[in-house]
Amino acid sequence: MTRVSIIGAGYVGLVTGVCLAEKGHQVVCVESDAGKVERIMRGEPPIHEAGLGELLRRHVGRGFRASAAIRDAVVESDVTLIAVGTPFDGKAIDLDQVVRAADEIGDALAHKADYHVVAVKSTVVPGTTVGVVRERLELASKKRAGADFGLGANPEFLTEGQAIDDFMHPDRVVVGGVDARSLDRLCELYQDFGDVPMIRTNPSTAEMIKYASNSLLATMVSFANEIADLSSAVGNIDAKEVMRGVHASSYLTIRESGRRVAAPITSFLDAGCGFGGSCLPKDVSALAAHGQALGVDTRVLDAVMRVNRDRPERVLAHLRRHFPSLRGRRVTVLGLAFKPDTDDVRESPAFPIIRRLCEEGASVSAYDPVANPPARRVLGDAGIRFCDGLAAALDGAEAVVIITRWKEFEAVPELLRGADPAPLVFDGRRMLDPGAVARYDGIGL
Ligand code: NAD
Repeated sequence: MTRVSIIGAGYVGLVTGVCLAEKGHQVVCVESDAGKVERIMRGEPPIHEAGLGELLRRHVGRGFRASAAIRDAVVESDVTLIAVGTPFDGKAIDLDQVVRAADEIGDALAHKADYHVVAVKSTVVPGTTVGVVRERLELASKKRAGADFGLGANPEFLTEGQAIDDFMHPDRVVVGGVDARSLDRLCELYQDFGDVPMIRTNPSTAEMIKYASNSLLATMVSFANEIADLSSAVGNIDAKEVMRGVHASSYLTIRESGRRVAAPITSFLDAGCGFGGSCLPKDVSALAAHGQALGVDTRVLDAVMRVNRDRPERVLAHLRRHFPSLRGRRVTVLGLAFKPDTDDVRESPAFPIIRRLCEEGASVSAYDPVANPPARRVLGDAGIRFCDGLAAALDGAEAVVIITRWKEFEAVPELLRGADPAPLVFDGRRMLDPGAVARYDGIGL
């Protein structure tokens, strides 16, 4: 059992906290938002994530608690994980939250005699842990990393919507340490996670593994979208069929006991409305900006972002094939979360699409099974009708635009049966059977 303090109780910090508690560690999540601390201590998860509420209620007040008192949390633990936000400010990664956390942890370490390890779980550009984090910790604690306390990077690979399952059954654990002692202590956190590849390395390599992984996924998405645009320009090519043919390659689909199994990466190799969320856009942008600051021309990463930024305009271009003017048209947008099974709307492709629809004068209704409230906070009420249910959202629509692949939207054909006049269904994720609705169009068609 390790005593762990985690700074930041957001998607990553809270999930990490309850999962480590489930594995028998004693965990305190330090959170600066007092409202979140209260909710967590009442056993109410502040975010929508399958299985999180159950785990939280099982451990809160026992092996897990939330607190605002960082010094006590650090002094009374053996390992501190930094899991605060690392947004992209338009020019570079914004490390303010990480720096503040490092200052506070360093201040606590000044009051602690026992050995302690600090690890950065947040996604930070390579070099951050041994650079600014080490400097701030050493300055505030008046101690030396490696000699007096341990330091490392332990990036997180969970996917929102399946975060608990991902954390409990990781595909890999990446731990970078400044020395063997730090590495050993961090690896102890994961010793009960079964036969999982443990990648022990230095902190900067660990940080780069995280960026390389996310950049690869983003590259797959933009590649598939560029092929879709090319297919549309040629005409009479369905990009979905093209990708089905690509997926069938033995590089991407393997034979396993007579069955053909597609590699999960094929789910990123499909045309769509573009990638969003709190990770891919900001991480690719931050790595490219970091490269440029180092004098590296990041041509692939730049192109990945450029293709992604064009996606909303591609959706609008498709709609204009059916409605030369969108002025006054009743358009229903389905899906506001950046992906299904989460209420996270950060960088959701729904927002630029909705904003463009509004600019074109469309009358926009929107519906998401769980993300209406956070989306309303981003978009405001002006001009957008947020609907409480799928049927209400479809009622009277002239065009229905599917942005997020929620399972609930599979009911769209059934709910539209008999609608007269039939609305156009524009399938931004190619999740419906084209023959299931009277008027269908989809990305890559
Ligand atoms: P988040 O914004 O949901 O959570 C961060 C939390 O930290 C917030 O609740 C904030 O109030 C709190 N915080 C900030 N400074 C603090 C301080 N000094 N003391 C106490 N609390 C503080 O962010 P997130 O989505 O959990 O992401 C955290 C990091 O993990 C980011 O670097 C992100 O890139 C990375 N990451 C995220 C995901 C994901 O799917 N969300 C996956 C892997 C990695």
